[in-house]
Amino acid sequence: MEISAIKSELIKILGKDKVLTDDLDLMYYSYDSSFLTKLHPKAPYAVVMPRSTGEVQKVTRFAYENNIKIVPRGAGTGETGGCIALEGGIVFDLSSWNDIDEIDAANMQVIVRPGVIHAELNKELNKKNLFFPPDPGSSLMCTIGGMVANNASGLRAVKYGCTEQYILGLEIVLPNGEIIKTGGQKTKCIKNVSGLNLNKLMVGSEGVLGIITQIRLRCWPKPKARGIAMAVFDDLDQAPAAVLDVYQSGILPSGIEILDSSAISAVNQYKPEINLPRAEAILLFEVDGNPPSVDYEGSLIKEIAGKRAVSVEWATDPQRMNELWEGRSVTATAAARVRADGTRVFAGEDIAVPLDKVADTLRQIRALAAKYDILVVNYGHIGDGNVHTAPVINPEVPEEVEKVQQLVHEIHLLAIELQGSTTGEHGVGAVRRQYAELEHGPAVKYMQGVKSVFDDKGLMNPGKLF
Ligand SMILES: Cc1cc2nc3c(=O)[nH]c(=O)nc-3n(C[C@H](O)[C@H](O)[C@H](O)COP(=O)(O)OP(=O)(O)OC[C@H]3O[C@@H](n4cnc5c(N)ncnc54)[C@H](O)[C@@H]3O)c2cc1C
Repeated sequence: MEISAIKSELIKILGKDKVLTDDLDLMYYSYDSSFLTKLHPKAPYAVVMPRSTGEVQKVTRFAYENNIKIVPRGAGTGETGGCIALEGGIVFDLSSWNDIDEIDAANMQVIVRPGVIHAELNKELNKKNLFFPPDPGSSLMCTIGGMVANNASGLRAVKYGCTEQYILGLEIVLPNGEIIKTGGQKTKCIKNVSGLNLNKLMVGSEGVLGIITQIRLRCWPKPKARGIAMAVFDDLDQAPAAVLDVYQSGILPSGIEILDSSAISAVNQYKPEINLPRAEAILLFEVDGNPPSVDYEGSLIKEIAGKRAVSVEWATDPQRMNELWEGRSVTATAAARVRADGTRVFAGEDIAVPLDKVADTLRQIRALAAKYDILVVNYGHIGDGNVHTAPVINPEVPEEVEKVQQLVHEIHLLAIELQGSTTGEHGVGAVRRQYAELEHGPAVKYMQGVKSVFDDKGLMNPGKLF
């Protein structure tokens, strides 16, 4: 079918207000937050903005009958080109479908439509002393649909896990227009082992199996107290060793973050008033729970980390906690500003490695940065081995673009070599699919087999995952 005919048919199905066809509008949908799309933007044929399952179904059926590719999109904060129509087709922009259908506090759950923004959801849940714990750095922008599709998480994953742990049920429109519910047709229970676990299959499926149109999420009671410890190390190896000591003492902090010397310098350069101590590494431990347990765990962390650190400070006073945490909260922005003529690129930024390989990983990344003569700022969620590497280049200089691509390729290979993963957070999308065979081996064939059960014509978000 001609692209112009596709556009007019979509307008017939949904009406003019819910379909974008102008080149200027479509250009916006050529990008997400990845470096890939900055280099190779790709516009869809048209964008639809459905506001009901029936509307999603109608467009999906039309696409299926006419063999047109379809790509779901939330807020476009993904770092891997996941929501881009790389092979053309129709983008489903679900970001305006942001209804919270029900907060069922009695059953510790909430039912939402895919476009609800993460921070907005937690604002509403907070009124009932509940929260949805995964906490991506993009909380103010990203949608719950995008979080489910990417199995998003954040710095509190060390205690609270990733989005997958909170999915009780999903409504999904399959590429052929069929609607299914995972986790039970009518169930409202929070414990359920009935049937093959399609919830788990859908979480992290990055839009290649179907369009998520409703999400039933488990909520947790909101902790009453919080404390922060900052430990400063003059020897990089002592930092992961201190993390292990804390675990072995029986404490599970709600966050354990590392800033290595590159991140410490970036923060001090960006905001000198923060004045982080010059060191090989800084660890930030966050503990939450009830006040007596927070006090107890904080004093124990201070004592344990103090055996390896040059200094440790523990705080429960809100103002002091903010001061201790400020360096971490500005790290991503600081990384982007370390070079006046450069910017951070999101390309190889979220590998995960075993806990006992974090120090080695950081050292090897520093060596790779030196080899390619590229500034790299390292920080991350050390508690679960998720290392963020922020390469900073001038994207207008082709040699730098070429070099950074080689650098991130080596970082991805390093992760696999060190028994880690190419992505602990942001997903595979188009950027990391080249590593699928290396990381998963023959299992990829079975992943592709599963996809073909849901998507027999191969129309759903092609060019992603594998
Ligand atoms: C500043 C910044 C900080 C970030 N920090 C984190 C972080 O701490 N942790 C983390 O995990 N990620 C982080 N990210 C990455 C990103 O925000 C997350 O992956 C987020 O979950 C993507 O949500 P989105 O709504 O923007 O989805 P999009 O980028 O629009 O889409 C992401 C993927 O989900 C699919 N998708 C979207 N909606 C649906 C749906 N309804 N049905 C089926 N598939 C769908 C798309 O096809 C695509 O494959 C960060 C990004 C930025 C820009």
